[in-house]
Amino acid sequence: MKSDVVIIGGGLAGLSTGALLAKQGKRVTVIEKGNQPGGRAYTYEEKGFTFNYGPHAMYIPESGILADVMARLGRPVPKCGYPDNMRAYWADGDRLAVMGAKPHQVLTTKLFSLGERMQVVKLMLALKSAKPATVAPGTTWREWVDAQTNAPAVRRFALALGTVNTYTRPSGELDAAWMLAHFKRVLFAKDFVGYMSGGWRSMYDVFIEELESNGGTLVTGTRIDRLEVADGRIVAAVTADARYEADAFVCTLPPQDAPALATDGSPLRTELQQWETLVDVRALCMDIGFSRKVRDNLALVFDIERDLYYSVHSFTTPDLAPATGQLLHAMAYLSPEEAADETLLAGRKAELVTGLDLHFPGWRDAIAVERTMPTAKVVGARQTPANRKNMVPLRAASVDNLYFAGDSRDIPYDLSLITLAAAMEVADAIGSASQAKPAAAIAGAAG
Ligand SMILES: Cc1cc2nc3c(=O)[nH]c(=O)nc-3n(C[C@H](O)[C@H](O)[C@H](O)COP(=O)(O)OP(=O)(O)OC[C@H]3O[C@@H](n4cnc5c(N)ncnc54)[C@H](O)[C@@H]3O)c2cc1C
Repeated sequence: MKSDVVIIGGGLAGLSTGALLAKQGKRVTVIEKGNQPGGRAYTYEEKGFTFNYGPHAMYIPESGILADVMARLGRPVPKCGYPDNMRAYWADGDRLAVMGAKPHQVLTTKLFSLGERMQVVKLMLALKSAKPATVAPGTTWREWVDAQTNAPAVRRFALALGTVNTYTRPSGELDAAWMLAHFKRVLFAKDFVGYMSGGWRSMYDVFIEELESNGGTLVTGTRIDRLEVADGRIVAAVTADARYEADAFVCTLPPQDAPALATDGSPLRTELQQWETLVDVRALCMDIGFSRKVRDNLALVFDIERDLYYSVHSFTTPDLAPATGQLLHAMAYLSPEEAADETLLAGRKAELVTGLDLHFPGWRDAIAVERTMPTAKVVGARQTPANRKNMVPLRAASVDNLYFAGDSRDIPYDLSLITLAAAMEVADAIGSASQAKPAAAIAGAAG
């Protein structure tokens, strides 16, 4: 059967776009090559632990983009736990201390000397009052930070804050205006970051329910091999043994994978290839379910010097682990060089494990479940000034009816928020394109 819209990819972008379009009354088919939906956000359970493939931190879930998508679907925002800042530790050399979030907490933290604390407060005020639009194009986050403070420890802290918010190492390379816009939006919000109860499945299951209850279809275990083009339009998404026809198509593949869908030498292939060189963001993750509580007095440690992150997710969201256990997500953020080199990668793994030994003594004896992802692709494009000039747009130029969603879109948000914002944009664009069609058809018939 021909659909109104075929969506390639059943990750967050595909499922949220599918739900929004189905809610508008479109006949939608979402096609996912994996055997389960969710893509890089998929959630699975093992021995009573609820793991996400990687993501955990949903920024401003109740006041931001996720809330907007859920409002359009008429559904509540999934329940989230919020980390206790007084249980979030920062390690810098031999200093290990909490920062808190309130001015009096920052002014008394043992992470910095008195002089440095004053500089941190100044930095926070500068972040709050910054006007991203006035930052000179091309300015990097490192350049912006260096202009605010000359205290090395405070500079290290600001860059670490950039990494922990974006997964990018080194965060100093990021576009300053983009980084500031992110911080202004999220850093001072009450719902700064939420860890979803039940994992991210609680969110994408809602998208699947909305898709299917509005007549849409989710097909898993089916890989689209190519897009068939005729007269400047995509006419079908083709698998080894089936053709999925539609009026409009949405591609949600990371930009490095999308060119393979177009015929070699075609204008569409050339167009898609311009984004395949975008440099992505990678991380080495260890997800561990502990059979007992290895450490119950901290929720998070961030090692500023080495860009290492340890989060006891179940401290913040207890239903992710059995009552007697704990779920830990440990991560080494990777530079592109580290992600591409076996030796550097092994070095990062060794650093991550050394941190586990230091902050979670006895962790090895308590392992109930462990999974390592050596180079997980976090997002398709680093938000550097160079990449930001060439992010993926809403629509293809070489064909009429191909739209793009996913986390490499040219939308000034971060991580999965880009996918959700892109979903709304694509749903609006397809909705208004099809509203325009009957009018044109009537005009044609009248002529
Ligand atoms: C380790 C890690 C940590 C993260 N942490 C956070 C976080 O804390 N906060 C946050 O907001 N975001 C985080 N993210 C990012 C977030 O997970 C992604 O932005 C989001 O899941 C991307 O969704 P997507 O739909 O754009 O892409 P994907 O999830 O990659 O979806 C694309 C889908 O297309 C499918 N596909 C590919 N080729 C084909 C084909 N030919 N035919 C059919 N299907 C195909 C794939 O199987 C996949 O399911 C993290 C990601 C990782 C990996």
